[in-house]
Amino acid sequence: MPSADRHQDSLPGEHEASGVAREGGTPPLALEVVDASHRYGDVAALRHASVNASSGEFLTLLGPSGSGKTTLLRIIAGLETPSAVHTLRIAGVDVRGVAAHQRNCATVFQHFALFPHMSVGENVEYGLRVRNRAPDERRRRALEALELVRLPAMYERRVHQLSGGERQRVALARALVTEPAILLLDEPLGALDEKLRMEMQVELSELQRRLGATFIHVTHSQEEALTMSDRVILMREGRIEQQGPPRELFERPRTRFVADFMGVENILDGVLVERSGERASLQVGEAVVHGTFLGHEALAPGTPVCATLRAEKVRFTDNADAAADEINRFACRAASTIYKGKYYDLGVNTEIGRLNGRIWESGDERLSPGHVTWQVGDCIVVPNE
Ligand code: ADP
Ligand code: MG
Repeated sequence: MPSADRHQDSLPGEHEASGVAREGGTPPLALEVVDASHRYGDVAALRHASVNASSGEFLTLLGPSGSGKTTLLRIIAGLETPSAVHTLRIAGVDVRGVAAHQRNCATVFQHFALFPHMSVGENVEYGLRVRNRAPDERRRRALEALELVRLPAMYERRVHQLSGGERQRVALARALVTEPAILLLDEPLGALDEKLRMEMQVELSELQRRLGATFIHVTHSQEEALTMSDRVILMREGRIEQQGPPRELFERPRTRFVADFMGVENILDGVLVERSGERASLQVGEAVVHGTFLGHEALAPGTPVCATLRAEKVRFTDNADAAADEINRFACRAASTIYKGKYYDLGVNTEIGRLNGRIWESGDERLSPGHVTWQVGDCIVVPNE
């Protein structure tokens, strides 16, 4: 996975308190947004959102459609004036009241927004032209930017002669040419087909590392967020629901919403029966299910909670004796089998409802197991929020 070594243990941006205590020569944060809210008429699009990005960080704003990602990005870019914001700094500079083109950032949109009547070179040079740079400097830097996105021979091309992927690379080059402190990307891969999207995920990620630039990337795809980011901010209805390295959101969801959005296949609603340290038990229908609670909040018995369990952690067995050792153990009956190429998706009915798991080897008997089990540590219990 291209992103394996970008996931650090620490959370960049969480070490430094916003705006204070960095006399010791620490470089300013690339981005500091404190308490931003925005309304469009009656719609509260952003509610008290605070976001930091360290220099050189690949940060992803993730969330369902309408959760406020674009609004937040447009506020950073200066394309939208927030209804209220406490702090808004780019590379240490207060940009409240600073026009979009004078902010030290550039934006790439999903729909490339290239000038169709200009050549590739003219498109890429545009940001330098409006900054009154000399023609030879413009050309040199445009060629460098095109080199970065692997299109060095495209300078003279017309935009309509490019494929979708090439256009998006030109849009990237155009944004990079002014060497902004922050590159803002709003669903930049959303219009590309699946295979190209995968390639561009890796390419964008590599480009960001090569440049050491700060990227703030918006997507609704959890897979894209996991692949590309140092840190993910998951948004919900204009608020920040959870943030952390990809692995943390994937493995330690804090609410039902996060688990669901991060694609956890099994979510069982119940009420808390007992909690002791990390161990939590919940009543699901007539049964009791055991899992692990990783949160810090005090949860009283009776609180609505969920057991969340990834399909790959579900174990199927026909050996009732082996199953008897497991604390989470239910008789099951196969209900659906879907061939996925590398594995089967197997759905089974149990007394606590449908559970979805995976079978990696075929063989008919494996596809109709008699028992389903899972380990306490693999089952994350979260508040039902
Ligand atoms: P996202 O990018 O996460 O899909 P947006 O920031 O575009 O979300 O939208 C957040 C909310 O604000 C949504 O409810 C959306 O309908 C609303 N909204 C966005 N832009 C406008 C606008 N120009 N006028 C009115 N409502 C808007
Ligand atoms: Mg959007």
